[in-house]
Amino acid sequence: MNLIIMGPPGAGKGTQSRRLGEHLAVPVISTGEMLRDEIKRKTTLGAQAKRHMDKGELIPDSLMIGVIEERLKRSDCARGFILDGFPRTVAQADALHKMLGENGSSLEHAVSLAVPNDELLKRLSGRRTCRDCGAMYHIIFDPPTNAGLCNKCNGELYQRDDDYEDIISSRLEVYESQTSPLLDYYRGHRQLLEVDGIGGRDDVLARILKRLGISQS
Ligand code: ADP
Ligand code: ADP
Ligand code: ZN
Repeated sequence: MNLIIMGPPGAGKGTQSRRLGEHLAVPVISTGEMLRDEIKRKTTLGAQAKRHMDKGELIPDSLMIGVIEERLKRSDCARGFILDGFPRTVAQADALHKMLGENGSSLEHAVSLAVPNDELLKRLSGRRTCRDCGAMYHIIFDPPTNAGLCNKCNGELYQRDDDYEDIISSRLEVYESQTSPLLDYYRGHRQLLEVDGIGGRDDVLARILKRLGISQS
């Protein structure tokens, strides 16, 4: 199954796509994580991306589309994939459609998680991310067992540079202006599944599976 998980920053895309990936046994491709990894490895792409990410802006479509095009060619995507954080613009959605079409493939669904802004602010300002494996926690809603350390790999938890209040508000504006038009785009293609992202993470996962017509066993 080829899926995209959409939603504003903090809606739970990463949290839910990791769980869905395990459930469906397909790779999860998170563009945010890929870019943070490029920054960590001090690559040229990382340096270019960081300039935009630190301001809460999107990185240019041409860069992002190139990265995804390479990633989707890898053999692990043959049985399906979940895209977390891509596409974020209509140009990216068009490019994805073309890439898949050229391989005789297509997107099954675009799942969009709906969460109001006041909740997004709480989620993002309390988010802590593992430097080593990218797992996300929340200081109140999902604290790690040992303060400051990842449950999965014992890596250090940190607050992302873009998870501070002034940058969060820019990211929410960027979502409204550049990414939310994709809701109509996928609605028009009859691929949009809008899911309420409020409530516990198990409830949200159950809602997504139900909308996808997958039994939760
Ligand atoms: P969140 O999940 O909190 O919305 P991400 O980790 O997905 O954040 O993305 C972090 C940043 O990486 C974005 O603010 C943007 O600068 C950059 N980024 C990630 N995906 C894309 C994309 N598809 N197009 C452009 N920029 C992207
Ligand atoms: P996104 O990838 O859309 O930016 P994340 O999955 O990283 O969102 O979640 C943002 C923050 O909210 C994280 O700190 C995460 O632990 C927390 N979170 C995720 N899902 C829920 C939920 N259902 N209820 C409360 N907090 C959540
Ligand atoms: Zn970790």
